[in-house]
Amino acid sequence: MTGQGDRHAWFHGGDAKCRELPRIPSRRFGLVLLGPPGVGKGTQAEKLAPELGTCHLSTGDVFRQGQIVPDGQRSPALDTALGAMRRGELVSDDIVIDMVRERAGCLRCRGGFLLDGFPRTVAQAEALDSLLEEQGTHLDAAVYYTVPRQTLIERLSGRRTCPSCNAVFHIASRPPRLPGICDDCSGRLVQRADDCPESISVRLAAYDQNTTPLIDYYRKTNRLLVVEADGPTDTICMRTLALLAEYKVDYHDNGDRNARPATF
Ligand code: AMP
Repeated sequence: MTGQGDRHAWFHGGDAKCRELPRIPSRRFGLVLLGPPGVGKGTQAEKLAPELGTCHLSTGDVFRQGQIVPDGQRSPALDTALGAMRRGELVSDDIVIDMVRERAGCLRCRGGFLLDGFPRTVAQAEALDSLLEEQGTHLDAAVYYTVPRQTLIERLSGRRTCPSCNAVFHIASRPPRLPGICDDCSGRLVQRADDCPESISVRLAAYDQNTTPLIDYYRKTNRLLVVEADGPTDTICMRTLALLAEYKVDYHDNGDRNARPATF
């Protein structure tokens, strides 16, 4: 266990169950992490998950895992999704929403949920709200990370990932101990196809067009928490935890607005 749940149900979907249940946190959070590609949502999710006792649920990780399914054994939907991903484009709402719906049980997890990379469009955000209602739960906040555009490009182009264990490094700010080798599992690090310069500009344009409207969507429903994300990753994590500690949860599970004490 990585300190963020075993995520078996998230990765395998359908009837799959996690082998290890997360501990019951003193305060259960349902969170979405928002922000442009390269802002560090994945890194923050890895740090926040053990602190909050929740799992890091990344839609991008599920699609990347689909890459290891051999040719000919992938569903047409997965093939279409992987093609979009390689080009740096968004996967269609239908495919992503179906994929999350298949894993909707994770939204009821007793540890809470920490969604990274979903939703990315207003249609996905609306679908998430409906799914949460169906599951008898709710979203506490959308945590929105912001940094200057130039910082994003530097972060994305220097990022290296481990295909075996999903660990993330950066050639300048978080280099592995041995160049090109994962510190955690000794796997060979790679540059994601969608971190090459052509895909980076496509991804940033897709973000501007599709995901920026989500900021308003969550602001209008009083669920937006803005976190300035330039600086050391530990500082950004502490900043997020401090904001969450002060944050008054707006909803009880039955949807009534009612403030609860902000401790966890
Ligand atoms: P990420 O690791 O979150 O940057 O996701 C990697 C890629 O997976 C994205 O560039 C998209 O092609 C695809 N993807 C992941 N999540 C979504 C989503 N919610 N909507 C559309 N495409 C997604």
